[in-house]
Amino acid sequence: MATYDCKDKVALVTGAGSGIGESCALTFARGGAKVVVADYDPDGGKRVTEAITSDGGDATFVEVDVSAADRVESMVATTVDTYGALHIAINNAGIGGAQAPTGEYPVDSWRQVIEVNLNGVFYGMRYEIPAMLEAGGGSIVNIASILGSVGFANSPAYVAAKHGVVGLTKTAAIEYSARGVRVNSVGPGFIDTPLLSANLDEATLSAIAGMHPIGRLGKPQEVADLVAFLASDEAAFCTGAYYLVDGAYTAN
Ligand code: NAP
Repeated sequence: MATYDCKDKVALVTGAGSGIGESCALTFARGGAKVVVADYDPDGGKRVTEAITSDGGDATFVEVDVSAADRVESMVATTVDTYGALHIAINNAGIGGAQAPTGEYPVDSWRQVIEVNLNGVFYGMRYEIPAMLEAGGGSIVNIASILGSVGFANSPAYVAAKHGVVGLTKTAAIEYSARGVRVNSVGPGFIDTPLLSANLDEATLSAIAGMHPIGRLGKPQEVADLVAFLASDEAAFCTGAYYLVDGAYTAN
């Protein structure tokens, strides 16, 4: 488990009440950051916030729906009001959506997945970037997926959204890197979180694990360790890129 020094930094993590976002929030707190735990789910968000504060850290829960631009704007404003600045933002909240081939895909699920997984990341950056410029710089990590670079049958909306996140990330990096805001995306393989376990049976999970040459699913902490590096000052020359953490899934 990696720890990067982020004392005096303020870190905002969306979808921090579960899975990958939870591991990111806990990792930033261990590094000394003040953490805004933002989530749709108050139970998960408050649980993670309490875990940080009971361990001596500083964290605040903010309830947010990342698919609503005004709620995202308030989330960033609350972060700056509470802690005085924003230095690190992890746009992580995401959903799986319906499973169906493109020619039968439910239009309402298409819209919902694009709203949360793609528009939610844009709304995040739309308000995080001005706050980071105000703070003198920062680092944004957008959680894409292996499905930001390869297709996957029966998940057209998810795949389209994640490809979009990779492109959006590159564009923002071109625009803002010279002004001190680095922007990267991360492409996890299939990770053992409630997003998978709540929706798939054991046999399917085992088949998916077997699609990774490493022979298993990833762990949330293995993603959080890469995210923490990219957010840290040690990654000063890393910007505009898409970093895989996928047990060789896409090498196949
Ligand atoms: P997770 O365990 O389900 O956690 C996601 C969190 O985001 C949940 O607390 C969820 O709340 C919250 N959320 C959902 N919609 C939201 C919204 N509109 N606004 C704010 N919060 C919202 O999922 P995870 O596996 O950690 O996934 C995190 C990110 O990693 C996602 O972007 C996902 O696409 C990506 N990813 C996951 C995998 C994987 O295999 N697990 C692989 C590659 C990429 P609710 O529980 O109330 O929905």
